[in-house]
Amino acid sequence: MAGLDYCSRCGACCAAFRVDFHVSELSGPESPGVPEAFAVPVTASLMRMRGTDATSPRCVALEGEIGCGVRCRIYEARPSPCREFAPYAALGIGDPACDRARARHGLSPLSND
Ligand code: SF4
Ligand code: SF4
Repeated sequence: MAGLDYCSRCGACCAAFRVDFHVSELSGPESPGVPEAFAVPVTASLMRMRGTDATSPRCVALEGEIGCGVRCRIYEARPSPCREFAPYAALGIGDPACDRARARHGLSPLSND
């Protein structure tokens, strides 16, 4: 997700899907992690990035314009779904989920760029 190379000119997946993660990934006094203000509780053990379950989802941590230039404000502390999503997309190699996110924003699959 939005950070490096191809992804820094995209950001579509940060404005396409719910982003849920375990409460242990929140930042704490002894551990870096997702700032609590960027997330909302779903259950006692599950958090969701704020903005990602809106009708037109967009993660609150995303800055910039999708398809042009974007930045994740918490890139180093982003939750595991973001770290694991389309791991080769930054190198220009997408996958079906990446393609779906890009299509939602009128962007072609990475392999066709
Ligand atoms: S290229 Fe794919 S993985 Fe990268 S920001 Fe866009 S949708 Fe997300
Ligand atoms: S935390 Fe960062 S990488 Fe994850 S969805 Fe939000 S803006 Fe994208």
